[in-house]
This record gives sequence, C-alpha cells and structure tokens, in this order.
Amino acid sequence: MATPHAILLLCLVPAPQAPQAPSWHTEQVGGIAVHVLQVTDAPVQTVFTFLPTGLATDPADRAQFAHLAEHMLIRSTDPTRLQVGGIRLNGETTGEAMRLESVAPPDSWRPALVRHMRWLTARQFDPKVLEREKVRIAGEERATAPRGFNHKWAIAAWAQLLAGRDHAAVHGDVAAATVAQVAAYVRGRVRLSEARMMVTGPRAPAEVVAALREEWKAISAPAGAAEPQERTAPSASATPSKSGPQNGAPRHTAATWDLPAEIYAAWYPLPVDCSAAEAEVLATLLTTACFGARAFRDLPGRALASALSRGGRRYLMVSATPSRELDDAALHREIDAAAARLPGLAMMQSGGMLARLVDPVPDFAAQRRAVPNARSREMVEAQFGMQCGYAVIRLGVPLDRAAAEYRAVARARLVALAKTCTPANRHSARWRSREARQAPPHKVR
Ligand SMILES: [Zn+2]
Repeated sequence: MATPHAILLLCLVPAPQAPQAPSWHTEQVGGIAVHVLQVTDAPVQTVFTFLPTGLATDPADRAQFAHLAEHMLIRSTDPTRLQVGGIRLNGETTGEAMRLESVAPPDSWRPALVRHMRWLTARQFDPKVLEREKVRIAGEERATAPRGFNHKWAIAAWAQLLAGRDHAAVHGDVAAATVAQVAAYVRGRVRLSEARMMVTGPRAPAEVVAALREEWKAISAPAGAAEPQERTAPSASATPSKSGPQNGAPRHTAATWDLPAEIYAAWYPLPVDCSAAEAEVLATLLTTACFGARAFRDLPGRALASALSRGGRRYLMVSATPSRELDDAALHREIDAAAARLPGLAMMQSGGMLARLVDPVPDFAAQRRAVPNARSREMVEAQFGMQCGYAVIRLGVPLDRAAAEYRAVARARLVALAKTCTPANRHSARWRSREARQAPPHKVR
C-alpha cells in the first residue's frame, strides 16, 4: 500500500514511454560558440550563424554596411547561387544582428555546415561580386521602401543620425562601397569570439563539431603564423559612453535620405541599468501599443519598435512610414499616446513570453503535426534554433542563461522603465528625400 510519501515519489518518476527530449550541446571551435541540438527525425539540417553586428551600429558614412557584409560573406563561397545541390543559403540583417543560414537535406549536411566556417573567416572579396550585390540590395530597397516597409532602413538612417549625419545615404553608401571598405568593415566587425552557431537536425553533436574542427584546421593551417585568431578588441557598440546619450542633440531633426519614401522615427534613451532583456520586452510592448493607434494601424508597414544599442547605450526606437497628411506634430502625438499606454501594458507583462521562445525545447513532432504548411513543417527545429540564436546574440549571455535573463524581467521594473518613455525623453526625426525637402513644407499645427 502506498503511503502519501511513496505516491509523491511515484509522481516524480517519468513515464517509461516518454521519449528523451533533445537538449543543446555546446562547444567552442576556433573561438566560435557552437550549439548543436540533435533531433534525429528532423527532415533538414539547419545552421544559423549569428553575429552581434547590425544596422544600428554601422559607423558614419557606412549605412547598411552590415547588410552589405552579410551578402558578401555568403557570396564568398557561392558567388552567384543561393541554391546549391539542394542546400538553401540565405541571410538577414536586423538592427542588432547579422544572421547567415543554410538549410540542407540530411545527406548534404557537411558541405552546408563548413560553409559557415568559410563565411566567418572570409577576408577577401571580389569586386565583380560586390557590383552584383549592390544591384541586389538596390532591388531590395525598391521592393520595400515605396510600399512602406521601412523599419530596417529607418534603423540604418537612425544610426547615421546618431553618428552625426542628418543626411543618411542608406542607398548611396552601399552604391559607392569599395572592396577595400567592405574588407575593412569585415575585419573590424566579424569576430569569431562573438559568433554563435546554432545547428539543428539529425546529425550528432560529435559529428558536427568534428567537421567544424577539421574545416577550422584546414582554413587556419596554410596561413601558418597568420592563423585567423579571433580579435579581442571590444566592438564599438560595447564601449560605454560616459557622457550619456544625445547631449546637445536636437529633439527633432528634419533629416534627409536617399530612399523613395518618408520615414518617421522616435526613440527613448533607456536608463543605463536597463538590461537587454528588459529593453526587448519594452520593444514588443511598444509595437503592441502602436497597433492600437489608428494613425499607424492603416499604414502598410504599421509602426514597429526595436530595442537598439549604440555607443554602449540602449534605446527604445519606433518607426513608421507616415502618410503625407500626417505632419510632425500629429506623429509626435500618436507616438506619445502609444508610449503613454506602455506602463499599463507593462503591468500585465513580464519576460515570460520571451523565455518561452527559448526554453524548454519544444515537442517538435507535435509541432510538425500542428503545422499545415509543408515548408513550415520542415522548419520547426530551425525556427527554435533561430529564436535561441537571436536571444543569445541580443542578450550577450551563454545559451543556458538566456531563459533566466528573460524570466528575471519583473513587472514592477518594466512599469518603472515604461514610465521613462515620456514626451520629455522623446527624440525624433523625419527623413525625406532631398527633392521632397525642396517642396512646400507640411502644415505645422
Ligand atoms: Zn539583403
């Protein structure tokens, strides 16, 4: 007969038929943190390499160079194609991170994986490839800017403004880029010690790590003494600014840029002790608050918020592609109204929602059953790997600390931070083309 104590023990014993949930395996190869999650029945082997360099930290006169570098690194192995023998290659650059990716059928896992090592160590670039990539990037600009999907371009323009440029050559800096500039940028920004590789799929961690070690040896050996060791110099974004942000900067800047759209951005310098996790939760709340604003709800790209850091300071930044009738004063009012809703939203929120994106490892088989679309079904493990990669790169912590960082975000603290996003603490800018600036000014109320 079971005593109450024995019943408790029985409940703690896992059911014998429960399969062993996969878990992350972490190792260093050439200074790179490699995280491997083996899911034996996953249909593809996916690798995401993340770097903490993005549009928000690009230097003056190098607008969207992080994006250009992303293109050039991937093209260093495959100058013309992004589909190679069933392997799909891709990349994405956001305000805070660069992501390089490969999705491969299980039997092509190795050539897909070792490409990441070559991308991370590429330091020489082909001028012909650069010219082709400029055309591709211009194509991306044309496909997004006129339709109002401008948040990433807004971040690139914002970075230029904070670097002291009230004209952002978001298109022009790339169009004028030279191979020497790209190589210098990559030398300064692509640090193996800051890279995170997230590998998901059927291959075992030991196989993955052995393949990377072998490739690392092949890449670093011929150079002999010039082994591509990771640099230890701190990145520009990691140098804390003692003087505080925006000293003497204008509250609102009528800026110009060279994309065929108008963009408005507002940003709030966050208190120096605001953590990356807290800033990220605030950004999700501000995007939610903007959804409620009628002036933004009907805009094609709506209004999107991001947590950005530059010069060692964190900012909560929101951008919108305004319609012509919305003058600056109306935009300020909308943003202020959305920011005023932040403390109320923060009252109902904590970091738990972001923690759940990275912990625990989900039941992938159940997820696959729930996803109707075939392409999405094959990417459920990859999706999780990508979420974990963004978390560690944004938080700057080991993978096993990421969920705890988010869970440590307390409501009371969020409310206090939300209350700092006041009109008095708001900075803003509106970028127009130079031609539009010559046109009669908007009515100012
Ligand atoms: Zn691109």
